[in-house]
Amino acid sequence: MKKRIIAGPCSAESYEQLHEVARHLKDVPCLTTIRAGVWKPRTRPGCFEGLGEPALRWMQEIGREFGVSFCCEVARPEHVEMCLQYGIHTVWLGARTTTSPFMVDEICSAISGNNIEVLVKNPICPDVRLWLGAIERLQHVGITALTAIHRGFSMYHNNGYRNAPLWEVALELRREMPDIPILCDPSHIAGRRDLVPILTATALQLDYDGLMVEVHPHPASAWTDAEQQIDFTTLLTIAETWNINEKQNTTPLPELGPLRDEIDSIDHGMLRMLARRMELSHQIADIKRQKNMTVYQQGRWTDVIEDRLALAQKLGLDTKFTKDILERIHAESVRVQLGELKKQ
Ligand code: PEP
Ligand code: MN
Repeated sequence: MKKRIIAGPCSAESYEQLHEVARHLKDVPCLTTIRAGVWKPRTRPGCFEGLGEPALRWMQEIGREFGVSFCCEVARPEHVEMCLQYGIHTVWLGARTTTSPFMVDEICSAISGNNIEVLVKNPICPDVRLWLGAIERLQHVGITALTAIHRGFSMYHNNGYRNAPLWEVALELRREMPDIPILCDPSHIAGRRDLVPILTATALQLDYDGLMVEVHPHPASAWTDAEQQIDFTTLLTIAETWNINEKQNTTPLPELGPLRDEIDSIDHGMLRMLARRMELSHQIADIKRQKNMTVYQQGRWTDVIEDRLALAQKLGLDTKFTKDILERIHAESVRVQLGELKKQ
């Protein structure tokens, strides 16, 4: 599929700013739409909340001058109406909106029957069902031009990102809705401009359909999200990489066949071994019950983790990866054993 880039400032700040953005972006490869927030959802009150209607007027005028189209976030039915009034036919639902089915429904009513493309950002929390639900609500009112935007998830610990990427949630959305294109928003994932190029490289390797990225003529003095916006030169470098990669090889590679066969048989073997491991957990639960021993045994669990992590290290396996798997298996074993107890 053709790659697509949506780029532009976090917020529309002035006619001159939007004009400069359009002048620089109009010929960027893969660029289809310019973004600029007109109503800004701010986490804390008292911050700049967007310019509203005047910005839409500038977008319309500048859009006509350069032959480019703009998009912005809508969070209320009135926003949709105003966008339509000023010829904005692509809008996005922000992460806070996707989180609320009531808000999504209200916007659906305003959008229904109009020729509008809707971009749906992931919800703030890593709940793929809310994301799917928002897309389904839009589909139910007849919107067919739909695209998902992965902007990361708000977690208490984000591992250095503003919003944890949790790529697996986006990949799950794609598995459930393979026909919905998905763009990566590296700006809101990163929260820092230096991480944006590496995140776009990951998105490319995960076969995303494109990007929504924040770019500003003077990033450091942007009115909102100044730390994460990139300059025009950085955007151009990223866009050229995406443009070249449109020609990615998609034909099946016969030389992958034997390697994939081996992976398939390893996966089957692992599942058989896991099934046997759970059978043993049932037997262990019986013995513990008879001998009045609790299901959870701290000493044994510490020994297991230490032994397996030492082996993993010798085998060259990543420690966190190994620990995650073991914790998951142990949690399942505890669940199985508790289940045995409940049967009594
Ligand atoms: C934005 O794109 O500027 C924005 C506020 O996005 P999000 O809903 O992802 O926070
Ligand atoms: Mn922003």
